[in-house]
Amino acid sequence: MRSNDINNLVAMFKNFSEKEQSMLVDKIINMMGEIKKTKEDHSCSNIVKEYTFKSSRPDCPRCRAKSDMGYILKRGFDNGVQRYYCKNCGKYFVATTNTVFENTQKSPDTWKKFIHMTITGKSIRACVAECNICTQTAFAWRHKILNAFKVHQDTLLMNGKIEVDEMFFPVSFKGNHIKGSFAGRKRLPGMSNNLPRKSFRRGSDNKSNAHSDKACVFCMIKNGNELFYAEVPGVGFMKPDMLDATLAKHVNKDGSVVIADQYRITHKYLEENGYEHVILSGNTAENTRYHRPEIKGEYHLQHVNAMHRHIRAFMKPYCGVSTKYLPNYIALYTWLKNIAANKKKNKAVEMSIYRASTSDCYISRRSIEAMPAIPMCA
Ligand SMILES: [Zn+2]
Repeated sequence: MRSNDINNLVAMFKNFSEKEQSMLVDKIINMMGEIKKTKEDHSCSNIVKEYTFKSSRPDCPRCRAKSDMGYILKRGFDNGVQRYYCKNCGKYFVATTNTVFENTQKSPDTWKKFIHMTITGKSIRACVAECNICTQTAFAWRHKILNAFKVHQDTLLMNGKIEVDEMFFPVSFKGNHIKGSFAGRKRLPGMSNNLPRKSFRRGSDNKSNAHSDKACVFCMIKNGNELFYAEVPGVGFMKPDMLDATLAKHVNKDGSVVIADQYRITHKYLEENGYEHVILSGNTAENTRYHRPEIKGEYHLQHVNAMHRHIRAFMKPYCGVSTKYLPNYIALYTWLKNIAANKKKNKAVEMSIYRASTSDCYISRRSIEAMPAIPMCA
């Protein structure tokens, strides 16, 4: 609209009676409200609202100040979406801040469909075709959602009878190359752009079978099937720092018995750190009640061994996930297993959308790309 047109409208407005003027102003205010409302309805803040804070206000995603304590005020709009102000930390935010839906322009329905397809094991290509988004977006969305599951897994704490054991996947450097060079190394000055290992030729003859070339997946199960945990703390056999990052963080020493195999380092770690534990021999006959009365047949590693089999079967349809993204897919596995363990399988989609709406899991596309080629324990 040109400024001339606006001037003409203002001139017309001045010619109206006072009553007509106030009627027109009311109409314009209503129209503005409608526009804002439709923008809000079409943004993902609507999902967050529906699944987390409903009719009230959200808690602060930065300092966690509670809205029901009166810390949160509604203050203006950000691109048509309600904006909030936290009196505790003095920061502004919108409903989607720090959730999976931060900085996203697509509709809530597209996201819901995408989350449903992700947890039912559909490929990225299938998601692209169904949700009408591009491959790069689908890839970033997939890892944003999986990251939300991983953040949740990092809060798990177990006690009771805990079976622990590790399994291995061959290291895959898929997805680390940019323009023919190995991107993971490219960013480090003075290092070559080559793969960190000799590239494999055709066939399996010169593929290494050493565990140092395999990504380690450390698994734990509480009381047979109550709570599942699996993480990729690094490559090769478990080392004390890898146990620090997994077992020590997620097992409550009080009231827990850790059941492990004879692997020397885990055994030593459990002993040194004062965990109550049972070490099972590789020879199952030795674990029976006759040979080791303290075990009485109630301790075994059958559940965790079954979990290894399930993880392998779960990963198969994804056709060789890069080691870089392996922890995310493993987190999807444990997320679904824990939902099934709580007998809430029919609510899996709802629970996953709720998880994505929780304001603790935002990850940018750049951070997804910059994830290390080999996951490292933190
Ligand atoms: Zn705050």
